[in-house]
Amino acid sequence: MDNESGVTRDRHYGKVQWTNKSFNVIDTGGYVVGSEDTFETAIREQVATSLEEASVILFVVDCITGLTDLDKDFAKVLRRTNKPVYLVANKADDSEKLMMAAEFYELNMGDPYPIAATSGSGTGDLLDAVVTNFPVDVEEEAPEIPRISVIGRPNVGKSSLVNLLLNDTRSIVTDIAGTTRDAVDAHYRAFGHDFILTDTAGIRRKSRVREDIEFYSVMRSIKAIENADVCVMIVDASRGMEAQDVNIINLAHKNKKGLVIMVNKWDLIEKETNTARDFEREIRSKIPHLNFVPIIFTSVLTKQRVMKVMEKAVEVYENKRTKIPTSKLNEVMLKEIENFPPPSYRGKYIKIKYITQLPTYNPTFAFFCNFPKHIKEPYRRFLENKMREYFEFEGVTIQLIFRSK
Ligand code: GDP
Repeated sequence: MDNESGVTRDRHYGKVQWTNKSFNVIDTGGYVVGSEDTFETAIREQVATSLEEASVILFVVDCITGLTDLDKDFAKVLRRTNKPVYLVANKADDSEKLMMAAEFYELNMGDPYPIAATSGSGTGDLLDAVVTNFPVDVEEEAPEIPRISVIGRPNVGKSSLVNLLLNDTRSIVTDIAGTTRDAVDAHYRAFGHDFILTDTAGIRRKSRVREDIEFYSVMRSIKAIENADVCVMIVDASRGMEAQDVNIINLAHKNKKGLVIMVNKWDLIEKETNTARDFEREIRSKIPHLNFVPIIFTSVLTKQRVMKVMEKAVEVYENKRTKIPTSKLNEVMLKEIENFPPPSYRGKYIKIKYITQLPTYNPTFAFFCNFPKHIKEPYRRFLENKMREYFEFEGVTIQLIFRSK
């Protein structure tokens, strides 16, 4: 076994909606590394990171394997936190395995929640319990000054960008092991626009375990995403867009945030005539569902196009605040719908009669029709694309919902 095993494993991220509440979730990867010493460090650091950053912790154990020494090690650390920890006994898919869940009482972490992730059984009770920790979703209001945050994997240039923009030392953190700081929001003014830069990028945590640095940065990204109106997602040109980058981008999208993709360190790339075009195609092929997101090639080192990124981010925010008059919306969209109506369902003729933008912060459009349930994804996509043709929603996630009159 080498020290790298498990290190490149993909994490899973998601946005969960349960009843009238929602929250972001991330798995810690549960990896295995070589030496005893690194192993201990890894556990300690990853648990420490989770404890610092998460609001709720799900500690997942396995009913088929049963209680392990590793579980006991984790439990020891987890028992010290005052954050809510839920003990989840996974793979409890029959009564025999359910019995196994009883042995987890030994961990002294309360009642285990038996679930079977594959069938979903038990997850309802778990979610009911977990969401008691979260507030009910409230409709956000668009702030006067957009909050912009810089997100991305470690080493892509986040702090360099923030430093360049702030042009002072605020985002530099001393290189002491375990140094953490709360995010500092800085007010910034450029191009006649004001914006708040939510400065989580400069926060660093020294670790001996590379996996933990990645984990930590993802946790920070989630916070940065939650606090932002528009996310500037940095990708390292010298590495290209990797699965982890796509994960972070998807997370911003699922949280309905405005997005600008900044391909940084462009100075390191040897260029020919079509290099940028080919690079952009390559990136777009990995996020085909986000074809509306602007991509800008930059170098923080030479300051190339950095200002353009910030300008674009403000523009995306303006797009996000767009309110389209109902008359205009119906005028252009009903004509398109007439030319290409939704396919009928079991001989039922589906008619969209009226469209209106809801007064929500995230642009949402209600299409009133006779059989809302029978409008399928391809037609929804057609409508979204038409909306984007007529109205400026570059970088903005829009929602189309179908309702009966
Ligand atoms: P962070 O971990 O995302 O905050 O990344 P940093 O801002 O710390 O940058 C990581 C490394 O990349 C540092 O050594 C930077 O000097 C370097 N770097 C950042 N931007 C650029 C760039 O545009 N070009 C080059 N060549 N290096 C850069």
